[in-house]
Amino acid sequence: MRPEALFDYFADVERLPGIGKRNKVALERLLGTRLVDLLFHLPSGLVDRRYRPKVADAVSGGIVTLEVTVDDHSPSHNRRSPYRVRCHDETGELMLVFFNPRADWLNKQLPVGETRIISGKLEDYQGKKQITHPDYMVSPENPNEMPDLETVYPLTAGLSGKVLRKAVQAALEVVPDLPEWLDSALIKRDTLPTFTDALKTVHEPQSIEDVAPSSLARRRLACDELLATQLALAIVRERTRRKRGRALRGSGDIVERILKVLPYQLTGDQQTALREIVGDLKSEKAMLRLMQGDVGSGKTIVALLAIASAVEAGVQTALLAPTEILAHQHLDTIAPLAETAGLRVALLTGRNKGKPRVALLEALAAGEIDLLIGTHAIIQQDVNFSDLGFAIIDEQHRFGVQQRMTLASKAEHGVDVLGMTATPIPRTLTLTAYGDMDVSLIREKPPGRKPVDTRVVALERLSDVIAGLERAMHTGARAYWVCPLVEESELLDLAAAEERYGTLKHLFGDRVGLVHGKMKGAEKDAVMAKFQSGEISILVSTTVIEVGVNVLEATIMVIEHAERFGLSQLHQLRGRVGRGDQRSSCILLRANEVGEVARARLKIMRETEDGFLIAEEDLRLRGGGEVLGTKQSGLPEFKMVDFTEHADLIELARDDARMIVAKDPDLQNARGGALRHLLYLFERDEGVRLMQSG
Ligand code: ADP
Ligand code: MG
Repeated sequence: MRPEALFDYFADVERLPGIGKRNKVALERLLGTRLVDLLFHLPSGLVDRRYRPKVADAVSGGIVTLEVTVDDHSPSHNRRSPYRVRCHDETGELMLVFFNPRADWLNKQLPVGETRIISGKLEDYQGKKQITHPDYMVSPENPNEMPDLETVYPLTAGLSGKVLRKAVQAALEVVPDLPEWLDSALIKRDTLPTFTDALKTVHEPQSIEDVAPSSLARRRLACDELLATQLALAIVRERTRRKRGRALRGSGDIVERILKVLPYQLTGDQQTALREIVGDLKSEKAMLRLMQGDVGSGKTIVALLAIASAVEAGVQTALLAPTEILAHQHLDTIAPLAETAGLRVALLTGRNKGKPRVALLEALAAGEIDLLIGTHAIIQQDVNFSDLGFAIIDEQHRFGVQQRMTLASKAEHGVDVLGMTATPIPRTLTLTAYGDMDVSLIREKPPGRKPVDTRVVALERLSDVIAGLERAMHTGARAYWVCPLVEESELLDLAAAEERYGTLKHLFGDRVGLVHGKMKGAEKDAVMAKFQSGEISILVSTTVIEVGVNVLEATIMVIEHAERFGLSQLHQLRGRVGRGDQRSSCILLRANEVGEVARARLKIMRETEDGFLIAEEDLRLRGGGEVLGTKQSGLPEFKMVDFTEHADLIELARDDARMIVAKDPDLQNARGGALRHLLYLFERDEGVRLMQSG
């Protein structure tokens, strides 16, 4: 149950003055429709209206506030010419310019002969000073109608800054103070304000410093968000550890048999990872480990060997993949090796139906399957193992804690769980994302990989790229063509991909195929299979190919509007090529005009293929905020934290969270009660849900 004091925080914005149905729709698109969504939407900047020069001294290009007398109005004589209002002060003349205004309204706002305070962006136009559509025009008698400092929020179409500011201010008045959850020593040391005061400060700043990430208010809010995250992680960890694992001591036989038929040697990193994982299996403690390694670093074979070790110890194992394509791919890689070694492997996805499914489930329950590879279908209620002892979750961040727990609940005697991820995460953030999970890192690439030749090309040279593609196709090359992310909308993504598919199809006919996220599993697989077999040689897609797929013959990757992708995502996409023994290339098609940061980010892609380096550079360039595209990385979403400014707080929060859980695991004492507010407020729901389930 959500604490009562939070009721107002989660109330609907419609309660607030100035928020009607239309604004609510816009808000919903931008950030959500609860007061807490408004309050956690921090200003991106501040407009300072305190610069009040005389007209003659005023510097154009920025915001100025001028006190002037209105001289005369010249209404527009046709639709295209503006309405002008001439004003002056004792030093010079100022022109106010309006396009399509309502004349009666303007006459009321700016009566001839009266004095007005005008604020807005000053421009030079043909040697004259002018302001187009001033932000404020107030009478000197009511100076308070214009704030000195005005917050600027990241906006969405259909919602004005004024409406949002008003709503936020109203929300601030409604929400109550909350019990203090931060450590009192920390508050004292850093002289932190209370939570509600901090919110007030950032939304109603008295100075530029107030909204900067270095402000005490921002620091306070960062502490809150980090503690919420770390506490949720610590609770999950503690609950996992409460359940004991079991000691799975394999004989080494099956592992040995697999290694014997393996056509290559494990790399040093693979060996280390395997040793660490097998060490966890052998220990009585439940495994809490993540195997992190770039696309193509060879995690799958390590996973298989770990599975073999567990099977030697007499238990069943499961390998869970987020998509059908991936599950199939795992089966393809693993099955031949596993079968020579005598492992019984089966695949279970949503497409297993009817009698065959029943037969498979019976075999599983009878202990006749050693390794079950599959998708979410494995988690379904009627799937029962005879004795599940070890589960591997690929791309583990794509599964919720709830799903991981459901999987674990299929094991009667406790289960060791190993997560895998191909998303490199900067060292500074590992702690944030995974708390203190143990990490096995595979950084070394298998030998013999050829670097991918990466080029950045502006879209205006699209025809050159297509010509190059045509030449490559004559030599039998296969290419991926990934279409841009369009805002957040899958439908728009699809439209873009379909359009490109149309152009390419016009040129290359049946050699072009299209896959996208709206397709059914079977349709998708059919297209993928055609690409795999070479029946089609250009695969146009939205980002559905992001994880997994392994087509050794594909040597060209074109990514359209590469500047819209997260670097880690680009890195993963690029990892789709360069897998075979041919030279590969990656073409990052960028918009014709891109900013400096975008340029720098694409340059990194050209210069390195080290996923960890890429992730770290991306973090450095973008600062905090939208770090890796949180959806891809599995990182919790942070609204308050600036990872450059608040780096020192991460470890502090982790230590505090651990101490809290050690002393008061069920959050029962006074601070524990306050901390429950914190968890709910930041919606770190894995922690919340675990507290409920006790
Ligand atoms: P990941 O799952 O980490 O993306 P994979 O396990 O699919 O990577 O490995 C990519 C390719 O590298 C596979 O074709 C695999 O057979 C091969 N491979 C794995 N380990 C080695 C190694 N030590 N030496 C040579 N090739 C390897
Ligand atoms: Mg164990």
